[in-house]
Amino acid sequence: MKNLCLLVIIFFSLQSAAQSTKRLHYKAILVDTHNDVLSSSVLEGKDISHRLTTGQSDLDRWKDGGLDVQFFSVWTDKTPRNKEGFFKDANQEIDSLEIITLRNPFRMTLATTYKQVKKGIRQKKLVALIGVEGGHMIEDDLSKLDSLAKRGMRYMTLTWNNSTSWATSAMDETQHADSLKHKGLTDFGKQIVHRMNELGVIIDLSHVGEQTFYDAVATTSKPVLLSHSSVWNICPVFRNVKDEQIKAVAKNGGVICINFYSGFLDSNFAKKMDQLEGSEGKRIKDSLGQTYDAARLNAIWAKYFSERLQPYRPTISKIVDHIDYIVKLVGDDYVGIGSDFDGVSSLPIGMDDVTKYPVITEELKRRGYSNKSIKKILGGNVMRVMKANFTRK
Ligand SMILES: [Zn+2]
Repeated sequence: MKNLCLLVIIFFSLQSAAQSTKRLHYKAILVDTHNDVLSSSVLEGKDISHRLTTGQSDLDRWKDGGLDVQFFSVWTDKTPRNKEGFFKDANQEIDSLEIITLRNPFRMTLATTYKQVKKGIRQKKLVALIGVEGGHMIEDDLSKLDSLAKRGMRYMTLTWNNSTSWATSAMDETQHADSLKHKGLTDFGKQIVHRMNELGVIIDLSHVGEQTFYDAVATTSKPVLLSHSSVWNICPVFRNVKDEQIKAVAKNGGVICINFYSGFLDSNFAKKMDQLEGSEGKRIKDSLGQTYDAARLNAIWAKYFSERLQPYRPTISKIVDHIDYIVKLVGDDYVGIGSDFDGVSSLPIGMDDVTKYPVITEELKRRGYSNKSIKKILGGNVMRVMKANFTRK
């Protein structure tokens, strides 16, 4: 009888702890600084106003996951979609976000000021913000930077994987260093950073090379953001951030938002992927090529590639390892969430879509994080960076 009573007490205390973690998650302001649904789904004609069975994000599922603020990535590849160029691509994506917002006035709102962000959260709407991923979209023209800021751009990632004439990317600095005409920010690049500070557009340093990173940190007068980057010391891939960079962000008062892509979180996954993309893949493709035509081979290869990587997928605990690493190195004021949902080919087990954000709160709580720390990590830190950068109207 005594044992039964003890079991009942343990059961109810576990249940009430789970409920209080759930309450904490849904009460906290949750901000995700990077989602690619515009370029991956919306431009393909998918309507995220309805619950979708494909992709990782839509309005219903964001609600389920407790998300309050989403930076929508406006992204275009190094060759433009439109013949008019990158700037046209960016505007077309912003149009698509405006249309979704117009269709759903009671469920979401597009914000451009800190006051509007706070108001949207109070109204329990999904607050949408525009983040332009890649300086190539301003086409080396300050008036286009001004124009995108006027349309609501609130961060700009100085480069995507491709460098611009004024800033070098992590990919180019690490993989094509010999062919670079310059490294880091040029004088024009520094002018762009100053102008972004004036316009209230956050300097996003995900994807940029280390030289560009340090040049930008030395140039900006405002706290920076890394909208979707993870920790190099846990997973040493070209665009994750090293300890000295993390310390520099802390000194600047900025925030690093952890990317959920398996290949940026887990070094075993990244290693296996390298093997498949390298010698192992070549050997298999060469042997298949003798039997199948190119289209069939590509289809078989894509399926095989994702199947081979399945066993290497990390669990969600790996996401929290990256958060934990930054907290232990510089404290809990400089880390946030930058999932990259709908922009990556593999996510950790247990993090299949945007409904799963609460497991991060559960894991932080399990590791002994205080409610105060968890609130900072889920969104408080990014709110601070927005407040410091945005105009106060
Ligand atoms: Zn990216």
